[in-house]
Amino acid sequence: MAENIRVRFAPSPTGFPHIGNIRTAFFNWLFARSNGGKFIVRVEDTDQERLVPGAVDAILDGLVWLGIDWDEGPRVDGPFGPYLQSERLDLYRQAADRLIAQGNAYRCYCTRERLAEVREVQQKEKRSIGYDRHCKSLTKEQCQDLDAAGAPSVVRFAMPGSGTTEVNDLIRGQVEWQNELVDDFVLLKSDGFPTYHLAVVVDDHLMEISHVLRAEEWLSSTPRHLQLYRAFDYPPPRFGHLPMILGPDRSKLSKRHGATSIMEYRDAGYLPEALKNFMVLLGWSLDDQTDVMPLDVIIKNFSLERVGKPAAIFDLERLGWMNGIYIRQLAPTELAAQMLPFLERDLPAELLPVDWEYFLRIVPLIQERLKLLSESAQITSYFFEDRLDYSAANLVQKGMDAESAVTALQRAGHALIGIDTFEAETIEQALRATAVELEFKPREFFGTLREAITARSATPSLFEVMAVLGKDRVLARFSAAAKQVSS
Ligand code: GLU
Repeated sequence: MAENIRVRFAPSPTGFPHIGNIRTAFFNWLFARSNGGKFIVRVEDTDQERLVPGAVDAILDGLVWLGIDWDEGPRVDGPFGPYLQSERLDLYRQAADRLIAQGNAYRCYCTRERLAEVREVQQKEKRSIGYDRHCKSLTKEQCQDLDAAGAPSVVRFAMPGSGTTEVNDLIRGQVEWQNELVDDFVLLKSDGFPTYHLAVVVDDHLMEISHVLRAEEWLSSTPRHLQLYRAFDYPPPRFGHLPMILGPDRSKLSKRHGATSIMEYRDAGYLPEALKNFMVLLGWSLDDQTDVMPLDVIIKNFSLERVGKPAAIFDLERLGWMNGIYIRQLAPTELAAQMLPFLERDLPAELLPVDWEYFLRIVPLIQERLKLLSESAQITSYFFEDRLDYSAANLVQKGMDAESAVTALQRAGHALIGIDTFEAETIEQALRATAVELEFKPREFFGTLREAITARSATPSLFEVMAVLGKDRVLARFSAAAKQVSS
């Protein structure tokens, strides 16, 4: 593309970033990376009342964790800074002054009470709701008098009262609005802070943003923005509104669907690569059928033409499935490194630190089963514990009695004690021979041994588990189990 592509992610730090926010960031990032463009982060912190402490860092840390890097913005700076709107207030004031001077904006001194009354009447008369332009006709002198008397004011944009505003949205196609249905919205609040509408247009222009890709909920703001571009005589960027994200029940995405702060995905043990692959499918597809794609394939193929209009469905189960696939693709050493912090977080302190070499032998055994890194401790704890919590019913399998269970355990111990190379194959041979010799049913015999070794009913191959545990631990577990059965 010959054009200079510059896109931005413009979060408002009024809460912690959820999957919807990050999907927007990711699509912008992909668009930049696939077109050799720049990806900019700009913090839209002009709603001072709704600022949430820590939200800016949570947003930026979330991007870092996901590997969504930005070319300009907080922490990295750039030629169009500052990238925090609260540090750009003069620019917005100047812009508002310019619009007032041109006759595209005016001061409004209406009180909250008056605005509420106007709304009430409009509602009662079933007219469209919006500011009634009461202050539009104030003269300069009247404004000066009101200012001198200390009356607080806002600045409103003077929307054209007729005609239409149109956009050819890159995703939604041609959209048109009747100007008379858009009211004279506020540009500058009485505290001197700009509204989103003013700040977004001023900054997208000054930062030379070429494409505005944002969530569909902002589509209805677009006529306001386009009118502002016209009043400033700025060339507007291209707009693309990304499809909504709904829960599997097609209701608005909420916590109930598992859509929580992005850092909770990290803590729950999702891999950034899996989450990105999952997110790109919330609106984009390669060919309507491929699910799992490495990032370089996504970057190479990403295009707005393949972003759909219909709402995307967020399905946490699918994310879990996707995560399992990415976990299986990791080299065991890499997986071990990813699991370690979760073991350190979740294993009882007395089992730490984990013996790294030992752990490296455990990982290949559980790699197939692991879906979330947060299951790391749960899925491996029996390798580390000294004493297992046995179920009596599993030690003495159905069809056995206490005596035969003890015999099974003792004879299994004898069979293994003399093995020199303690490997899955040799262990299996020895134990199968014992089962035959004692005329045990394999299900019963190995059921008892499995409980003794793992205290679990579902485990990786028992012989491999024993080989990793090593002879000493295995023998100790057999005796502990036998002791429990006979007590
Ligand atoms: N600050 C807005 C938000 O929180 C940005 C909307 C836009 O991208 O224009 O999503």
